[in-house]
Amino acid sequence: MVSWSNIECISGKIGNARSIILPTQGCYYDKCYMCSYKSSCPEKTPHDIVDIFKQELCEGHDKIKIFTSGSFFDTTELSLKQQIEIVSLAAKQGIKELTVESRPEFITSEVLRSFKDVLGDVVFDIAIGLESANNDVLKYCVNKGFTFEAFERKANILMSNDCLVKAYLLLKPPFLTEYEAFMDVITSARKIESLCDTISINPVSIHKGSIVEQLWLRNSYRPPYLWTLVECLNELMDLDAYVLSHPVAPGKARGIHNCGSCDNTIIKKIEEYNLNKIPINAQCDCKAEWEMELKKIF
Ligand code: SF4
Repeated sequence: MVSWSNIECISGKIGNARSIILPTQGCYYDKCYMCSYKSSCPEKTPHDIVDIFKQELCEGHDKIKIFTSGSFFDTTELSLKQQIEIVSLAAKQGIKELTVESRPEFITSEVLRSFKDVLGDVVFDIAIGLESANNDVLKYCVNKGFTFEAFERKANILMSNDCLVKAYLLLKPPFLTEYEAFMDVITSARKIESLCDTISINPVSIHKGSIVEQLWLRNSYRPPYLWTLVECLNELMDLDAYVLSHPVAPGKARGIHNCGSCDNTIIKKIEEYNLNKIPINAQCDCKAEWEMELKKIF
């Protein structure tokens, strides 16, 4: 079990958030090219998962975010009874918002209605790893196993059930150039703007045992440049949806990185952007290398 607290923007105000990773058996799908979460999950969800969750709770937070390395609403990961008990425990902490993640196939009005009584006034925020709004990218670069239209249908169901919608967009899936990756995030974000309250840009990080790791080890893949993320965030400042990014392993070889000397400064500016939407201004000699990368067509 891993949990941590941080400051973030919650319903337009700075507040305290508690993130809790629940050790369920993980994602049933387990086929996305960049992901190997399932390999670090237990074979079966522990029977005392609700007690495990309870131990990680602590007071003084405005928001709780629950991650399961899969889908919260998948009843093979967590029974409906366990889901309701967990949501009920979270809601009793006096929070304003609760975030859980799910693939679209588990989201139905019936499921959402199961939580209505225990949530009370707590806003239910559902995060979906859409990755891209382009079906070719979803099929050939991510192997996502669902289409943009499936996401769209479920986002509408969430909105009609008074839930918030959060979408993750993947920055630089394999088989895209740096420029194509940039354009894919911009085009996808604009396409889903009216369907989402929050758009989180997730730059690819190299998971051990993933298909992307195989490409990376053969020098056929490089994680995106921080410059590309900076450009995406600055370009999307006008969106009504809240745009943010919390990169994994930033500045590391396996994560989004630049040359090494400007990485920390830019990472701090991205954190400031997340809280205050301040445009990111940065300079470094390696920007020229990135500009050359953008011109590559292979
Ligand atoms: S990215 Fe999400 S949907 Fe895809 S395999 Fe990983 S956990 Fe499952």
